[in-house]
Amino acid sequence: MPATDLDQIVNLCKRRGFVYPSAEIYGGFRSTYDYGPLGSLLLRNVKEAWIRSTVQQRDDVVLIDAAILGPPQIWEASGHLANFTDPLVDCTSCKQRFRLDKLDDPNTCPSCGAVGSFTEARQFNLMFKTHAGPIEDHAAVAYLRPETAQGMFVNFVNVLQTSRKKPPFGIAQVGKSFRNEITPQNWIFRTREFEQMELEFFVPPADGPQWYEYWCNERLDWYVRHGIPAEMLRLRAHDDDELSHYSSGTSDVEFLFPWGWDELEGIAQRSDYDLTQHAAHSGEKLDFFDQATGERYVPHVVEPAAGATRTMAAFLLAAYDEDVVNDETRTVLRLHPRLAPYKVAVLPLSKKDTLTPLAHEIRRTLSERYMVDYDETQAIGRRYRRQDEIGTPLCVTVDFDSLDDGAVTIRDRDSTQQVRVPISDLEAEISARLGF
Ligand code: ATP
Repeated sequence: MPATDLDQIVNLCKRRGFVYPSAEIYGGFRSTYDYGPLGSLLLRNVKEAWIRSTVQQRDDVVLIDAAILGPPQIWEASGHLANFTDPLVDCTSCKQRFRLDKLDDPNTCPSCGAVGSFTEARQFNLMFKTHAGPIEDHAAVAYLRPETAQGMFVNFVNVLQTSRKKPPFGIAQVGKSFRNEITPQNWIFRTREFEQMELEFFVPPADGPQWYEYWCNERLDWYVRHGIPAEMLRLRAHDDDELSHYSSGTSDVEFLFPWGWDELEGIAQRSDYDLTQHAAHSGEKLDFFDQATGERYVPHVVEPAAGATRTMAAFLLAAYDEDVVNDETRTVLRLHPRLAPYKVAVLPLSKKDTLTPLAHEIRRTLSERYMVDYDETQAIGRRYRRQDEIGTPLCVTVDFDSLDDGAVTIRDRDSTQQVRVPISDLEAEISARLGF
Protein backbone atom coordinates (compact mmCIF):
# COMPACT_ATOMS: atom_id res chain seq x y z
CA MET A 1 0.00 0.00 0.00
CA PRO A 2 2.16 2.90 -1.22
CA ALA A 3 1.55 6.41 0.11
CA THR A 4 -1.61 7.96 -1.30
CA ASP A 5 -1.01 11.35 0.21
CA LEU A 6 2.16 13.36 -0.33
CA ASP A 7 1.92 14.72 3.23
CA GLN A 8 2.51 11.22 4.66
CA ILE A 9 5.96 11.26 3.09
CA VAL A 10 6.69 14.95 3.63
CA ASN A 11 5.94 14.59 7.36
CA LEU A 12 7.89 11.36 7.77
CA CYS A 13 10.84 12.91 5.96
CA LYS A 14 10.83 16.00 8.16
CA ARG A 15 10.38 14.02 11.39
CA ARG A 16 13.07 11.43 10.63
CA GLY A 17 15.66 13.67 9.02
CA PHE A 18 15.33 12.99 5.31
CA VAL A 19 14.30 16.39 3.94
CA TYR A 20 13.96 19.77 5.63
CA PRO A 21 12.69 23.03 4.18
CA SER A 22 15.82 25.05 3.45
CA ALA A 23 16.71 28.02 5.69
CA GLU A 24 13.84 27.03 7.95
CA ILE A 25 14.97 29.22 10.86
CA TYR A 26 14.46 32.18 8.51
CA GLY A 27 11.03 30.99 7.42
CA GLY A 28 12.22 28.80 4.53
CA PHE A 29 13.43 29.83 1.09
CA ARG A 30 11.21 29.58 -1.97
CA SER A 31 10.59 25.84 -2.34
CA THR A 32 14.21 24.96 -1.65
CA TYR A 33 15.05 21.88 0.42
CA ASP A 34 17.94 20.50 2.41
CA TYR A 35 18.68 16.80 2.59
CA GLY A 36 19.29 15.68 6.17
CA PRO A 37 21.30 12.77 7.62
CA LEU A 38 19.02 10.13 6.07
CA GLY A 39 17.95 12.00 2.94
CA SER A 40 21.52 12.73 1.90
CA LEU A 41 22.29 8.99 2.17
CA LEU A 42 19.15 8.02 0.25
CA LEU A 43 19.84 10.56 -2.50
CA ARG A 44 23.44 9.39 -2.75
CA ASN A 45 22.24 5.78 -3.03
CA VAL A 46 19.79 6.69 -5.82
CA LYS A 47 22.64 8.33 -7.75
CA GLU A 48 25.00 5.43 -7.06
CA ALA A 49 22.41 2.89 -8.18
CA TRP A 50 22.07 4.83 -11.44
CA ILE A 51 25.85 5.05 -11.94
CA ARG A 52 26.19 1.36 -11.12
CA SER A 53 23.67 0.34 -13.80
CA THR A 54 24.52 2.98 -16.38
CA VAL A 55 28.32 3.07 -16.10
CA GLN A 56 29.84 0.40 -13.86
CA GLN A 57 27.98 -2.62 -15.24
CA ARG A 58 28.57 -1.65 -18.88
CA ASP A 59 31.66 -1.27 -21.00
CA ASP A 60 30.24 1.41 -23.31
CA VAL A 61 29.58 4.35 -20.97
CA VAL A 62 31.99 6.69 -19.17
CA LEU A 63 31.26 9.19 -16.42
CA ILE A 64 32.17 12.89 -16.31
CA ASP A 65 31.61 15.73 -13.86
CA ALA A 66 31.44 19.05 -15.72
CA ALA A 67 31.20 22.60 -14.40
CA ILE A 68 27.90 24.06 -13.24
CA LEU A 69 28.87 27.59 -14.31
CA GLY A 70 29.14 28.17 -18.04
CA PRO A 71 29.63 30.96 -20.57
CA PRO A 72 26.67 32.26 -22.65
CA GLN A 73 28.13 30.67 -25.82
CA ILE A 74 27.18 27.17 -24.61
CA TRP A 75 23.58 28.23 -24.07
CA GLU A 76 23.38 30.19 -27.30
CA ALA A 77 24.48 27.11 -29.22
CA SER A 78 22.17 24.75 -27.33
CA GLY A 79 19.21 27.06 -27.92
CA HIS A 80 18.51 27.55 -24.20
CA LEU A 81 18.94 31.33 -24.23
CA ALA A 82 16.38 31.69 -27.00
CA ASN A 83 14.01 28.83 -26.28
CA PHE A 84 14.28 27.53 -22.73
CA THR A 85 11.15 29.33 -21.69
CA ASP A 86 7.81 28.59 -20.11
CA PRO A 87 4.64 30.59 -20.83
CA LEU A 88 3.90 32.83 -17.85
CA VAL A 89 0.51 34.37 -17.06
CA ASP A 90 -0.47 36.76 -14.25
CA CYS A 91 -3.86 36.75 -12.61
CA THR A 92 -4.97 40.41 -12.60
CA SER A 93 -7.30 39.66 -9.72
CA CYS A 94 -5.02 38.01 -7.09
CA LYS A 95 -1.64 38.88 -8.69
CA GLN A 96 -0.41 35.27 -8.60
CA ARG A 97 1.70 33.91 -11.46
CA PHE A 98 1.23 30.60 -13.24
CA ARG A 99 2.74 28.46 -15.93
CA LEU A 100 0.07 28.44 -18.61
CA ASP A 101 0.83 24.95 -19.94
CA LYS A 102 0.36 23.41 -16.47
CA LEU A 103 -3.06 24.94 -15.74
CA ASP A 104 -6.04 22.57 -15.73
CA ASP A 105 -8.26 25.35 -17.09
CA PRO A 106 -6.40 28.18 -18.89
CA ASN A 107 -9.30 30.57 -18.20
CA THR A 108 -9.72 30.08 -14.46
CA CYS A 109 -7.26 31.14 -11.76
CA PRO A 110 -6.57 28.09 -9.50
CA SER A 111 -5.76 30.43 -6.63
CA CYS A 112 -8.70 32.88 -6.46
CA GLY A 113 -11.14 31.27 -8.91
CA ALA A 114 -11.43 34.40 -11.08
CA VAL A 115 -12.46 33.64 -14.67
CA GLY A 116 -10.81 35.38 -17.63
CA SER A 117 -8.43 37.26 -15.31
CA PHE A 118 -5.16 36.17 -16.89
CA THR A 119 -2.82 38.49 -18.80
CA GLU A 120 -1.48 37.49 -22.23
CA ALA A 121 1.18 34.77 -21.85
CA ARG A 122 4.81 35.96 -21.86
CA GLN A 123 7.73 33.65 -22.50
CA PHE A 124 9.79 33.50 -19.30
CA ASN A 125 13.38 32.22 -19.58
CA LEU A 126 14.26 29.67 -16.87
CA MET A 127 18.03 30.23 -16.89
CA PHE A 128 19.71 31.52 -13.72
CA LYS A 129 22.06 34.32 -14.71
CA THR A 130 25.04 35.49 -12.67
CA HIS A 131 28.45 37.15 -13.12
CA ALA A 132 31.81 35.41 -12.96
CA GLY A 133 34.44 37.62 -11.32
CA PRO A 134 34.24 40.99 -9.57
CA ILE A 135 32.97 43.08 -12.47
CA GLU A 136 29.28 42.86 -13.26
CA ASP A 137 29.49 43.76 -16.93
CA HIS A 138 28.30 42.03 -20.05
CA ALA A 139 31.60 40.18 -20.59
CA ALA A 140 31.32 38.53 -17.17
CA VAL A 141 27.83 37.05 -17.67
CA ALA A 142 27.61 33.36 -16.79
CA TYR A 143 24.75 30.93 -16.35
CA LEU A 144 24.06 28.08 -13.96
CA ARG A 145 23.37 25.02 -16.07
CA PRO A 146 19.67 24.13 -16.43
CA GLU A 147 20.61 20.55 -17.40
CA THR A 148 23.81 18.52 -17.21
CA ALA A 149 23.59 17.41 -20.85
CA GLN A 150 25.56 20.23 -22.46
CA GLY A 151 28.64 19.22 -20.42
CA MET A 152 28.69 15.97 -22.38
CA PHE A 153 28.36 17.65 -25.78
CA VAL A 154 31.07 20.26 -25.22
CA ASN A 155 33.41 17.50 -23.98
CA PHE A 156 32.57 15.06 -26.77
CA VAL A 157 35.97 15.30 -28.48
CA ASN A 158 37.89 15.32 -25.17
CA VAL A 159 36.17 12.13 -24.09
CA LEU A 160 36.48 10.51 -27.51
CA GLN A 161 40.23 11.15 -27.55
CA THR A 162 40.97 10.17 -23.96
CA SER A 163 38.63 7.24 -23.37
CA ARG A 164 39.27 5.29 -26.61
CA LYS A 165 35.52 4.71 -26.97
CA LYS A 166 33.72 4.78 -30.29
CA PRO A 167 30.02 4.87 -31.17
CA PRO A 168 27.90 3.32 -29.88
CA PHE A 169 29.08 4.73 -26.56
CA GLY A 170 27.75 7.04 -23.89
CA ILE A 171 28.83 9.85 -21.59
CA ALA A 172 27.01 10.00 -18.27
CA GLN A 173 26.81 12.68 -15.63
CA VAL A 174 25.11 13.18 -12.29
CA GLY A 175 24.82 16.57 -10.65
CA LYS A 176 22.97 19.73 -9.81
CA SER A 177 20.94 21.74 -12.28
CA PHE A 178 19.08 24.99 -11.79
CA ARG A 179 15.88 26.30 -13.34
CA ASN A 180 14.04 29.42 -12.31
CA GLU A 181 10.74 27.56 -12.31
CA ILE A 182 7.64 29.76 -12.34
CA THR A 183 5.75 27.44 -10.04
CA PRO A 184 7.93 25.03 -8.09
CA GLN A 185 5.56 22.54 -6.50
CA ASN A 186 4.84 19.20 -4.94
CA TRP A 187 7.72 19.19 -2.45
CA ILE A 188 10.95 17.97 -4.13
CA PHE A 189 9.13 17.07 -7.38
CA ARG A 190 9.71 20.46 -8.96
CA THR A 191 12.30 22.74 -7.37
CA ARG A 192 14.59 25.47 -8.67
CA GLU A 193 17.72 23.60 -7.57
CA PHE A 194 17.66 19.85 -8.23
CA GLU A 195 19.82 16.93 -9.28
CA GLN A 196 19.83 15.10 -12.58
CA MET A 197 21.20 11.80 -13.88
CA GLU A 198 21.73 12.08 -17.61
CA LEU A 199 23.22 9.93 -20.33
CA GLU A 200 24.10 11.06 -23.84
CA PHE A 201 24.45 7.91 -25.93
CA PHE A 202 26.22 8.53 -29.26
CA VAL A 203 25.36 6.14 -32.10
CA PRO A 204 25.84 5.79 -35.86
CA PRO A 205 22.91 7.75 -37.41
CA ALA A 206 21.13 4.69 -38.80
CA ASP A 207 21.10 3.01 -35.37
CA GLY A 208 19.21 5.81 -33.56
CA PRO A 209 15.75 4.17 -33.56
CA GLN A 210 17.01 0.83 -32.28
CA TRP A 211 18.99 2.41 -29.41
CA TYR A 212 16.05 4.63 -28.53
CA GLU A 213 13.91 1.51 -28.16
CA TYR A 214 16.64 -0.13 -26.09
CA TRP A 215 17.02 2.79 -23.66
CA CYS A 216 13.25 3.22 -23.21
CA ASN A 217 13.00 -0.40 -22.07
CA GLU A 218 16.17 -0.37 -20.02
CA ARG A 219 15.26 2.80 -18.15
CA LEU A 220 11.73 1.65 -17.35
CA ASP A 221 13.12 -1.63 -16.09
CA TRP A 222 15.69 0.15 -13.87
CA TYR A 223 12.92 1.57 -11.67
CA VAL A 224 11.27 -1.85 -11.38
CA ARG A 225 14.59 -3.51 -10.50
CA HIS A 226 14.97 -0.95 -7.71
CA GLY A 227 11.63 -1.67 -6.13
CA ILE A 228 8.92 0.42 -7.79
CA PRO A 229 5.90 -1.79 -8.59
CA ALA A 230 5.48 -2.08 -12.39
CA GLU A 231 1.85 -0.94 -12.13
CA MET A 232 3.02 2.43 -10.76
CA LEU A 233 5.13 3.06 -13.88
CA ARG A 234 4.40 3.63 -17.52
CA LEU A 235 6.17 4.75 -20.66
CA ARG A 236 4.32 7.53 -22.49
CA ALA A 237 5.37 8.49 -26.02
CA HIS A 238 5.11 12.22 -26.72
CA ASP A 239 2.53 13.37 -29.23
CA ASP A 240 3.90 15.06 -32.34
CA ASP A 241 2.99 18.53 -31.02
CA GLU A 242 5.06 17.93 -27.84
CA LEU A 243 8.24 17.03 -29.73
CA SER A 244 11.09 19.51 -30.13
CA HIS A 245 11.91 20.20 -33.78
CA TYR A 246 15.12 18.12 -33.71
CA SER A 247 13.57 15.11 -31.97
CA SER A 248 12.24 12.14 -33.88
CA GLY A 249 10.87 10.53 -30.75
CA THR A 250 10.58 11.18 -27.02
CA SER A 251 9.03 9.05 -24.31
CA ASP A 252 8.60 9.83 -20.65
CA VAL A 253 8.87 7.32 -17.86
CA GLU A 254 5.92 8.32 -15.70
CA PHE A 255 5.15 7.41 -12.10
CA LEU A 256 1.75 7.33 -10.46
CA PHE A 257 2.19 10.22 -7.99
CA PRO A 258 -0.59 11.03 -5.48
CA TRP A 259 -1.74 13.77 -7.93
CA GLY A 260 -1.70 11.43 -10.97
CA TRP A 261 0.75 10.27 -13.61
CA ASP A 262 3.76 12.58 -13.91
CA GLU A 263 7.24 12.54 -15.41
CA LEU A 264 10.26 10.90 -13.80
CA GLU A 265 12.49 10.83 -16.84
CA GLY A 266 12.50 11.73 -20.52
CA ILE A 267 14.16 9.57 -23.18
CA ALA A 268 14.74 11.49 -26.39
CA GLN A 269 16.16 10.88 -29.84
CA ARG A 270 18.08 14.13 -30.31
CA SER A 271 19.49 13.35 -33.78
CA ASP A 272 22.80 15.19 -34.45
CA TYR A 273 21.32 18.49 -33.28
CA ASP A 274 23.58 19.23 -30.29
CA LEU A 275 26.93 18.27 -31.81
CA THR A 276 26.10 20.13 -35.02
CA GLN A 277 25.07 23.25 -33.09
CA HIS A 278 28.21 23.27 -30.94
CA ALA A 279 30.41 22.60 -33.98
CA ALA A 280 28.85 25.58 -35.80
CA HIS A 281 29.15 27.93 -32.81
CA SER A 282 32.63 26.89 -31.65
CA GLY A 283 34.24 26.29 -35.03
CA GLU A 284 35.53 22.92 -33.75
CA LYS A 285 34.93 19.63 -35.55
CA LEU A 286 32.62 17.50 -33.43
CA ASP A 287 32.34 14.29 -35.39
CA PHE A 288 33.72 10.75 -35.53
CA PHE A 289 36.00 9.14 -38.08
CA ASP A 290 35.42 5.41 -38.29
CA GLN A 291 38.79 3.91 -39.25
CA ALA A 292 37.22 0.55 -40.06
CA THR A 293 34.91 1.93 -42.76
CA GLY A 294 36.73 5.16 -43.62
CA GLU A 295 33.51 7.02 -42.93
CA ARG A 296 33.22 10.37 -41.11
CA TYR A 297 29.91 11.21 -39.48
CA VAL A 298 28.24 13.23 -36.73
CA PRO A 299 26.82 10.68 -34.29
CA HIS A 300 23.14 10.77 -33.37
CA VAL A 301 22.23 10.97 -29.71
CA VAL A 302 19.77 9.07 -27.57
CA GLU A 303 19.32 10.82 -24.23
CA PRO A 304 17.78 9.28 -21.11
CA ALA A 305 17.46 12.25 -18.69
CA ALA A 306 16.24 11.52 -15.17
CA GLY A 307 15.87 13.62 -12.04
CA ALA A 308 17.63 12.22 -8.97
CA THR A 309 15.70 14.27 -6.43
CA ARG A 310 12.36 13.68 -8.18
CA THR A 311 13.14 9.97 -8.42
CA MET A 312 13.95 9.91 -4.71
CA ALA A 313 10.42 11.20 -4.02
CA ALA A 314 8.99 8.39 -6.17
CA PHE A 315 11.05 5.73 -4.38
CA LEU A 316 9.82 7.03 -1.01
CA LEU A 317 6.18 7.13 -2.10
CA ALA A 318 6.33 3.61 -3.56
CA ALA A 319 8.16 2.19 -0.52
CA TYR A 320 5.74 3.59 2.06
CA ASP A 321 3.60 0.98 3.75
CA GLU A 322 1.58 0.46 6.89
CA ASP A 323 0.87 -2.99 8.34
CA VAL A 324 -0.12 -4.52 11.66
CA VAL A 325 2.51 -6.25 13.78
CA ASN A 326 1.56 -7.58 17.24
CA ASP A 327 -1.75 -5.70 17.08
CA GLU A 328 0.05 -2.43 16.47
CA THR A 329 0.09 -0.48 13.22
CA ARG A 330 3.60 0.16 12.04
CA THR A 331 4.90 2.37 9.27
CA VAL A 332 7.56 0.77 7.14
CA LEU A 333 9.59 2.03 4.20
CA ARG A 334 10.14 -1.02 2.04
CA LEU A 335 13.11 0.53 0.25
CA HIS A 336 15.32 -1.63 -1.95
CA PRO A 337 18.44 -2.55 0.11
CA ARG A 338 20.67 -0.65 -2.31
CA LEU A 339 18.67 2.51 -1.71
CA ALA A 340 18.06 2.22 2.04
CA PRO A 341 20.07 4.88 3.94
CA TYR A 342 21.30 2.33 6.49
CA LYS A 343 21.69 -1.31 5.53
CA VAL A 344 21.96 -2.56 9.10
CA ALA A 345 21.19 -1.23 12.58
CA VAL A 346 23.13 -2.64 15.52
CA LEU A 347 21.01 -2.62 18.66
CA PRO A 348 22.36 -3.77 22.04
CA LEU A 349 19.43 -4.97 24.16
CA SER A 350 20.63 -2.83 27.04
CA LYS A 351 23.04 0.07 27.26
CA LYS A 352 24.90 -1.62 30.12
CA ASP A 353 28.61 -1.62 29.53
CA THR A 354 28.65 -5.42 29.68
CA LEU A 355 26.92 -5.43 26.25
CA THR A 356 27.97 -2.26 24.49
CA PRO A 357 31.65 -3.15 23.79
CA LEU A 358 30.55 -6.23 21.78
CA ALA A 359 27.82 -4.22 20.02
CA HIS A 360 30.32 -1.50 19.09
CA GLU A 361 32.77 -4.09 17.81
CA ILE A 362 30.08 -5.56 15.54
CA ARG A 363 29.14 -2.06 14.35
CA ARG A 364 32.79 -1.28 13.56
CA THR A 365 33.28 -4.51 11.61
CA LEU A 366 30.08 -4.11 9.56
CA SER A 367 30.73 -0.43 8.87
CA GLU A 368 33.84 -1.38 6.88
CA ARG A 369 31.37 -2.58 4.26
CA TYR A 370 27.99 -1.01 4.95
CA MET A 371 26.39 2.17 6.26
CA VAL A 372 25.40 1.09 9.78
CA ASP A 373 23.24 2.78 12.40
CA TYR A 374 23.81 2.21 16.11
CA ASP A 375 21.08 2.81 18.66
CA GLU A 376 21.04 1.91 22.33
CA THR A 377 18.20 4.16 23.54
CA GLN A 378 14.59 3.16 24.35
CA ALA A 379 12.87 -0.24 24.42
CA ILE A 380 13.89 -2.66 21.67
CA GLY A 381 10.39 -2.69 20.12
CA ARG A 382 10.46 1.07 19.63
CA ARG A 383 13.93 0.88 18.12
CA TYR A 384 12.72 -1.73 15.59
CA ARG A 385 9.81 0.58 14.68
CA ARG A 386 12.17 3.47 14.13
CA GLN A 387 14.38 1.38 11.83
CA ASP A 388 11.28 0.14 9.95
CA GLU A 389 10.17 3.70 9.43
CA ILE A 390 13.50 4.76 7.93
CA GLY A 391 13.75 1.64 5.76
CA THR A 392 16.66 -0.23 7.37
CA PRO A 393 16.45 -3.77 5.92
CA LEU A 394 18.15 -5.59 8.82
CA CYS A 395 18.56 -5.11 12.56
CA VAL A 396 21.20 -6.98 14.56
CA THR A 397 20.35 -7.34 18.23
CA VAL A 398 23.08 -8.06 20.76
CA ASP A 399 21.71 -9.55 24.00
CA PHE A 400 23.15 -11.03 27.18
CA ASP A 401 23.20 -14.55 25.70
CA SER A 402 25.47 -13.19 22.97
CA LEU A 403 28.24 -12.91 25.56
CA ASP A 404 28.03 -16.66 26.18
CA ASP A 405 26.93 -18.21 22.87
CA GLY A 406 28.73 -15.80 20.50
CA ALA A 407 25.52 -15.34 18.51
CA VAL A 408 23.20 -12.42 17.72
CA THR A 409 19.67 -12.02 16.37
CA ILE A 410 19.00 -10.74 12.87
CA ARG A 411 15.57 -9.20 12.35
CA ASP A 412 14.17 -8.70 8.87
CA ARG A 413 12.34 -5.41 8.18
CA ASP A 414 9.76 -6.79 5.78
CA SER A 415 8.79 -10.08 7.45
CA THR A 416 9.81 -9.02 11.03
CA GLN A 417 11.16 -12.56 11.37
CA GLN A 418 14.12 -13.10 13.67
CA VAL A 419 16.88 -15.70 13.43
CA ARG A 420 19.86 -16.41 15.61
CA VAL A 421 23.22 -16.28 13.81
CA PRO A 422 26.77 -16.92 15.08
CA ILE A 423 28.76 -13.68 15.06
CA SER A 424 31.40 -15.45 12.96
CA ASP A 425 28.79 -15.92 10.18
CA LEU A 426 27.15 -12.53 10.57
CA GLU A 427 28.79 -10.68 7.69
CA ALA A 428 28.16 -13.51 5.22
CA GLU A 429 24.54 -13.80 6.36
CA ILE A 430 23.96 -10.07 5.99
CA SER A 431 25.55 -10.04 2.56
CA ALA A 432 23.38 -12.96 1.44
CA ARG A 433 20.23 -11.24 2.68
CA LEU A 434 21.03 -7.82 1.18
CA GLY A 435 22.26 -9.32 -2.06
CA PHE A 436 25.62 -7.47 -1.99
P1 ATP B 1 8.91 19.54 -16.87
O1 ATP B 1 8.13 19.44 -18.15
O2 ATP B 1 8.34 18.70 -15.73
O3 ATP B 1 9.29 20.92 -16.45
P2 ATP B 1 11.12 18.74 -18.47
O4 ATP B 1 10.42 17.83 -19.42
O5 ATP B 1 11.49 20.10 -18.87
O6 ATP B 1 10.30 18.80 -17.11
P3 ATP B 1 13.70 17.60 -18.71
O7 ATP B 1 14.32 18.83 -19.24
O8 ATP B 1 13.39 16.48 -19.64
O9 ATP B 1 12.38 17.99 -17.89
O10 ATP B 1 14.58 17.10 -17.49
C1 ATP B 1 14.85 15.74 -17.27
C2 ATP B 1 14.44 15.33 -15.86
O11 ATP B 1 15.00 16.22 -14.89
C3 ATP B 1 12.93 15.38 -15.61
O12 ATP B 1 12.31 14.21 -16.07
C4 ATP B 1 12.89 15.49 -14.11
O13 ATP B 1 13.03 14.22 -13.49
C5 ATP B 1 14.11 16.33 -13.78
N1 ATP B 1 13.71 17.72 -13.57
C6 ATP B 1 13.51 18.67 -14.50
N2 ATP B 1 13.15 19.83 -13.95
C7 ATP B 1 13.10 19.61 -12.61
C8 ATP B 1 12.79 20.43 -11.47
N3 ATP B 1 12.48 21.70 -11.60
N4 ATP B 1 12.85 19.86 -10.23
C9 ATP B 1 13.19 18.56 -10.09
N5 ATP B 1 13.50 17.75 -11.11
C10 ATP B 1 13.46 18.26 -12.35
